[in-house]
Amino acid sequence: MVAPGITGRTRPTKVKKQAAQQKRKRDDVDVEKLEQAVNDLDIKNGTFSDFTNLPLSDPTKQGLKACHFAVMTDVQRKAIPLALKGHDILGAAKTGSGKTLSFIIPVLENLYRLQHVGADAGLGALILSPTRELAIQIFDVLCKVGKHGHMFAAGLLIGGKSLEAERQALTRMNILVATPGRMLQHLSQTAAFSVDDLKMLVLDEADRILDMGFQRDVDAIVDYLPKDRQTLLFSATQSKKVSDLARLSLHDPEYVSVHAEDKSATPASLQQNYIICPVEEKLDTLWSFIQASKKSKILCFFSSAKVVRFVFESFRHMQPGIPLLHIHGRQKQGARLDTTAKFSSSKNSCLFATDVAARGLDFPAVDFVIQVDCPDDADTYIHRVGRTARYNREGRGVLFLTSSEEEGMLKRLEAKNVPVELINVRQKKRQSIKEQLQNQCFQDPALKYLGQKAFMTYVKSVYLQKDKEVFKLKEYDLEAFAASLGLPGTPRIKFLNDNNSRQKKQASRQTMELSESDEEEDTAKKTKTVRTKYDRMFERQNQDVFADHYKKLVRDRPDDLSAAADDFTGSATINAADDDFLSIKRRIPANDEEGDFGDDGDTSTTPGGRVVHITGASQPIVIDSNRREKLLQSKKKLTKLMDKGKRLVFDDDGIAREPYELKDEADFKAEGLPEVQRQKFIEEARAVVQIADVEDKATAKAKRKEKLRKRKERERGEAEVDGDDAGVELEDMGEDPLANFLADAQFTDEEDEVVEKTKKKEKKWFESDSEGDEQSSKKKRKKARRHVVEEPETLEDMETLAAGLLG
Ligand code: ADP
Ligand code: MG
Repeated sequence: MVAPGITGRTRPTKVKKQAAQQKRKRDDVDVEKLEQAVNDLDIKNGTFSDFTNLPLSDPTKQGLKACHFAVMTDVQRKAIPLALKGHDILGAAKTGSGKTLSFIIPVLENLYRLQHVGADAGLGALILSPTRELAIQIFDVLCKVGKHGHMFAAGLLIGGKSLEAERQALTRMNILVATPGRMLQHLSQTAAFSVDDLKMLVLDEADRILDMGFQRDVDAIVDYLPKDRQTLLFSATQSKKVSDLARLSLHDPEYVSVHAEDKSATPASLQQNYIICPVEEKLDTLWSFIQASKKSKILCFFSSAKVVRFVFESFRHMQPGIPLLHIHGRQKQGARLDTTAKFSSSKNSCLFATDVAARGLDFPAVDFVIQVDCPDDADTYIHRVGRTARYNREGRGVLFLTSSEEEGMLKRLEAKNVPVELINVRQKKRQSIKEQLQNQCFQDPALKYLGQKAFMTYVKSVYLQKDKEVFKLKEYDLEAFAASLGLPGTPRIKFLNDNNSRQKKQASRQTMELSESDEEEDTAKKTKTVRTKYDRMFERQNQDVFADHYKKLVRDRPDDLSAAADDFTGSATINAADDDFLSIKRRIPANDEEGDFGDDGDTSTTPGGRVVHITGASQPIVIDSNRREKLLQSKKKLTKLMDKGKRLVFDDDGIAREPYELKDEADFKAEGLPEVQRQKFIEEARAVVQIADVEDKATAKAKRKEKLRKRKERERGEAEVDGDDAGVELEDMGEDPLANFLADAQFTDEEDEVVEKTKKKEKKWFESDSEGDEQSSKKKRKKARRHVVEEPETLEDMETLAAGLLG
């Protein structure tokens, strides 16, 4: 706390300080009373209709009053008392039924009663949300209710700011509202951030947070958190999956499901309809709908960000007469927040969105939710449509379905108790905007590009849908759809073509497999039901025509082949002809012919056919049919018949060696005591290293001598060119002084010493306690100093040089 004298704010600071102290004192009294009241709560028999019926702290009561929350909703009535008593909760209640307060109030209250307040208390409650927008909304509610006397430090952790800036504040927080990704980032990177004392974990839109997309992050976060904590899960589409409960280690959770017995899973005040609309008419219908509802607040859902952008940009150019907004995950955070704020405060506007806006967002007074692209599943439908008709208000949902989606989707919705009714679009009121879109795309290449992207992502999204009973890509008229976006042609979709060719490949492979398996069957089994192309060839009626034609074809061929063709009289030789069409890759000679099969290919005859030895196979192969003969022409099929190769691994030098495997323990023990074995290994290794070392030294020495010789030659040559004087000078000095020194230091008496020194050094490498270490190290140092001028060439030289420098 800063001294009052320094700030010059003596009075206010003092007053604040006193007030805080008084409050703290009053809190202590409060807490005991409250704790008692919560313990006395009779959940089964108690009647709770208003917030005032609950044992809540004064700051929370004031907060609720200030926000005009008086009567509890169903979910609040059931969940809050249980949560106050510390139970783990799985809360399921319809969209817009007040789930947020069902966890905000217990968070504030439970931490309050524990007096988990102040910078040193650490993080007490963590609330996770799947999207940033929802996290902000939850944080807003927390602040609105909590700002009337609570002293918790609460923070919003959703990214978008620098980690460093967040780090500073993070360690002082008591309550955090976060998105899983950012939370995990801090848990793993901010050292001072401790969650060891966490009391409560809340997952809003729990089913979404627990699904595949967040699985890794959430599991990692939960690993950091203490097991002994209270966990609250809320969603409109709550699942009771045992695996999820196990992941979160819930303790005997209470399942609070308020609307489970209701006829509908969606709010009663919500009117839900669907229309049948082929993909190519979607934009016309949407445009016409917007034109007819300019005085409304409309939220439209699409399958991808690219589609949202395209529809937003193209509709905007056509001046629809209603403010247009758009939101998707590829926008910057600022733009997203701007959009949500604008849409919240606007009276009539139209927001185009992806599913980032599908969950939890509480836009006031939305009149229509239009699902232009079919939702992934019934749960997504429920969340999307739940953006309207919130907290007992009216609202309408319209779902666009293509005729191929209708049956499947209705089935899914029915299973989830979602009542939707078919309505018709008044054809008279429907305008076509196809031409306008075409003109726009023609004039603006950027828009055309966007349209192409939108088309592709739409098709891709349908293609990737799991529920193939609803999404049948083949049923959509993609050409008409592309034209309806104003595109000059249908963009080529690579993965669809790939898929086709893959299917074709697979089909031909299947035929091959079938024909191969035929070969292996014995003749008795040949009464098979599957007909292959070979069967069809045998069954062919006009074989003579084929044979004549074939004869003509092969008449001018080399002898060996035309001979086979001349014999072409019956079915037995048809395969030979077939072989010819397939072009012979490699021919297996008859046993009396010269073998050209592989290097050491070898054949012999048996009563059942020929026996062929192929390279790489220990077992010979029996060739008893033409098909079998054909098999020998395929390298790929032959590899299957060869022996399996040995597994090798590459060592650090890139040399292939057999992988090292641990010996059997008994074998190992049989070879002697481990210590003896170790010594033996060291001796062997030392011998190898010594030999290698001497060799290395010799090569290094030879190299250096050669280098020196060359240099001397070069210098001598230069001296002769420079003139007689220089030559004299050199001769007078004997030789180049530097070269002289080097020669002395390196190559004369020193050389032997170097070898000797290495030996001593090796001792050090393998044996920890070498005698006379000190003496030798002194010598080494001396030598090292002399070596400073040398050019280190071997590892040894470098070591000596380094030792010299260090010494
Ligand atoms: P959910 O999370 O169930 O979809 P929210 O918590 O977002 O619903 O609440 C929906 C709307 O209902 C919000 O605008 C909220 O202010 C309002 N609301 C919630 N509880 C009450 C209450 N007890 N009294 C009045 N309005 C409430
Ligand atoms: Mg909610």
